[in-house]
Amino acid sequence: MIKRICNLDQLEFTVVPSQKDLFLKTLTEVKVFKEILPATFLMGDDWNIKINCKKCNNCLTFGRFSSNFKRLKYLSNYDIKNFEFLDYLASPFGHIEVRNYSTKNGEVYNYYFKRKEAIVKLFITFCPQCDATYLGSFAERYGGEIERSPADLSADYVYIDELVMVDVNREKFMEEFKMNT
Ligand SMILES: [Zn+2]
Repeated sequence: MIKRICNLDQLEFTVVPSQKDLFLKTLTEVKVFKEILPATFLMGDDWNIKINCKKCNNCLTFGRFSSNFKRLKYLSNYDIKNFEFLDYLASPFGHIEVRNYSTKNGEVYNYYFKRKEAIVKLFITFCPQCDATYLGSFAERYGGEIERSPADLSADYVYIDELVMVDVNREKFMEEFKMNT
């Protein structure tokens, strides 16, 4: 089990509109807003989140893009076949479960929200000042109300369910993660 220290609920979001947002006027300028988790927001061209670290109170930012990649890493479970390890990764979260299905290439596992039919993705980030580690669970989804061309496969919304400060040795954790993927 990964030890959960506490949940963060109040987050500050910044969303930069995409070309599609500008064209459809779903978002016309950079939007900064505070929201309590779980929260859904327009994905835009880029987004980032600001929090006050629960351990040292430093303000830290993490986001979608590579400039921030050092501080936000997606934990893709796509290639993980070890059910126990998947359970372990999901252990600090309250709302996700592992489901499996058979394909011609063998069993595939995915995380789902218990009460929603959305596939869950996980990410890891940390505080650069005190090194506290945070794990988050999120999903991306299409907006049914947003007009799109059939060739456009990009998601429109991000749903962040939980952000949890956890007690792990991050280097060891990432090594273990790599060993299982
Ligand atoms: Zn900190």
